[in-house]
Amino acid sequence: MIKTVAHVIHRRGRRVDDPGIDIPVADDLVSQPGSRSKNVDVSFYSRVEPLTTPDLEKAADMDWAWTIFPDDLAEYRRAHDERSKPHLRAAETSGDIEPTGIPDPGVDMTEVIRNKARELGFGEVGFTMYDNRYTYAHRKGWPKFQNAICLALEQDYQQTQTIPSLEGEYAHFGTYEIEAEIAIELAEHIRSLGYRAQMHLDSAEAGAFIPMFVNAGLGQLGANGQLLSPHFGSRSRLAMLTTDAPVTYDQPVDFGISNFCQECQVCVNRCPGRALIRDKVWYRGVQKNKVIYERCRPVMANYDGCGICMKVCPIQKYGMKPVMEHYVETGGILGKGTDNLEGYTLRDKGYQGPDKLPHFNTQFFDIPNCRPEELLFNQFKEKVQAATMPPVEEMREFATEVKKALERGKRQSHMKD
Ligand code: SF4
Ligand code: SF4
Repeated sequence: MIKTVAHVIHRRGRRVDDPGIDIPVADDLVSQPGSRSKNVDVSFYSRVEPLTTPDLEKAADMDWAWTIFPDDLAEYRRAHDERSKPHLRAAETSGDIEPTGIPDPGVDMTEVIRNKARELGFGEVGFTMYDNRYTYAHRKGWPKFQNAICLALEQDYQQTQTIPSLEGEYAHFGTYEIEAEIAIELAEHIRSLGYRAQMHLDSAEAGAFIPMFVNAGLGQLGANGQLLSPHFGSRSRLAMLTTDAPVTYDQPVDFGISNFCQECQVCVNRCPGRALIRDKVWYRGVQKNKVIYERCRPVMANYDGCGICMKVCPIQKYGMKPVMEHYVETGGILGKGTDNLEGYTLRDKGYQGPDKLPHFNTQFFDIPNCRPEELLFNQFKEKVQAATMPPVEEMREFATEVKKALERGKRQSHMKD
């Protein structure tokens, strides 16, 4: 052993019947439980510049991405969207549904909910206060209850190792579909015990989940911008219930991830879009490695949702316990520099081993980066600049397209409201 162990984190097993695990944290990895943040700054940004989501603010990018999806992916995504509609509708009104049972003050709701969630298949379950500062601007007022139940569902291991691929997208979106079904079941169970439950599902979420998952002690934020949890790293899909059931909050944990990522850097080095940055920055009151959206989105759109930063993460691949034990014993990063961890294949670029990265020209990164109506206006402006007078037909066409884009935006925002 070349490192001194500063503390050991004990966690429940991956599945209900699995034994618990002990994760050693080396002394040079110790930082702080959860994330390093400045409360005053988090509150300031949420007040003067509430969070927005690229789903709305950059909706033109999604429209554009659909135009370059391969046929098989587009067909799968359309089918997924159809299958998800009933879940999203159920989530929107879930907070208004009355309880079906009578509360029993003698019941420990924290353990009842945790056990039921684990029995349904959630690999990580934690409790914290719902932090309204992370609610999106267009969702303010929607979350009804103060207690948040954070839920992570593991996605298929083998499919994830094929990323970027259609298989990987089956794992990604398929897990969300299963998660929605079991979240509905968990919400019904809570109502049967006399309390209310509101569902925050993917595409119907009220805000950013990860800060609350970190506060609930389910993991820490990785350099890839994802929640790294003990058993499956970021290979999971997140959902949340908020409830008025009385629960005891969990506490944030120092798994050593914050400093470990600074040593590891595999996702930063392997990102084909060079969208991840080595050094942490302060952003909206939290210290983190920021993902550069404009460099990530084109890669995601062109390569089956990309996700290489998830696939090459040793904590996703091997689990936090073996990775941290290896670090304590050797001072090294398990799998770093090997094809097994770092290799991946891009459709038109071939195999990329640990010492190889693909190259893209600047046009590759040229994406709309705005709302659809802004894109139309910019295109129209270019046409006007190119001609002495805007042709009447083009003005009519412009007006029709803007109307359509605004209607579409209204529908999307309504789904999210
Ligand atoms: S999804 Fe791909 S492009 Fe985006 S940050 Fe991850 S590895 Fe980079
Ligand atoms: S690949 Fe390494 S640096 Fe990136 S999130 Fe995983 S542990 Fe952190």
